[in-house]
Amino acid sequence: MLSIKNIHANIAGKEILKGINLDIKAGEVHAIMGPNGSGKSTLASVLAGREEFEVTEGEVEFAGKDLLELSTEDRAREGLFLAFQYPVEIPGVSTTNFIKAAVNEKRKYLGQEPLDAVSFLKKMKEKMALVEIDQSLLSRSINEGFSGGEKKRNEVFQMAMLEPKLAIMDETDSGLDIDALRIVANGINKLRSPERSILLITHYQRLLDYIQPDYVHVLYKGRIVRSGQKELALELEEKGYDFITDEVDLSL
Ligand code: ADP
Ligand code: MG
Ligand code: MG
Repeated sequence: MLSIKNIHANIAGKEILKGINLDIKAGEVHAIMGPNGSGKSTLASVLAGREEFEVTEGEVEFAGKDLLELSTEDRAREGLFLAFQYPVEIPGVSTTNFIKAAVNEKRKYLGQEPLDAVSFLKKMKEKMALVEIDQSLLSRSINEGFSGGEKKRNEVFQMAMLEPKLAIMDETDSGLDIDALRIVANGINKLRSPERSILLITHYQRLLDYIQPDYVHVLYKGRIVRSGQKELALELEEKGYDFITDEVDLSL
């Protein structure tokens, strides 16, 4: 699904990613953890194609395509979904209309007819139930005045509607109370499938109590310094990041 080879990336002339390698197969859930400022969000932004970030070296293949050659829009249409750490507010545009436009954009790109009103509504209802989101939220301007929990639920709902091949969730757990966390995690779990891969970016282990990843990677100072299975997240919870980062700092 996703193959990242030796990615180096700069922002404002400063190298943030210093040679990232990562392979994610269809159906797998990977978690990227790491201290603040390690480059986790930078990696997500590079994959999404945000222009402030300059890729200076390396390659990324996504579902058989050269990802770095695709525009941000085409990456989304090819099935990449990115839930941002700070979701945007769009005054005057309801969530429903926003999602309808996004779904039909993607269908057009794939050479499919737009969904008719009845089919769209049916799909909305089905996915609303899946992620336990309320109709009233969907008729409001997207993210405007949404609580932290509502924004995150809305992200998971968008993901459900867009049916991506690869979903990248950057700190989807940040700022959630325990009930909202459980709902968001359940939603994501229901969207796991053998055809879909998920990359969870998180500072804290607690999200991984609810969503069990197949692999866990620690990103530190722009490099993946440790990879393991879900037990690695538990070890981090118990010992903190220092037990890994001290070792890395000594070797630099
Ligand atoms: P993380 O998500 O792991 O907390 P980030 O990817 O957000 O880390 O940040 C990695 C480094 O890149 C930090 O040192 C941060 O200050 C720097 N950085 C991120 N975005 C910008 C930006 N827009 N301009 C300058 N530096 C940035
Ligand atoms: Mg951060
Ligand atoms: Mg971040």
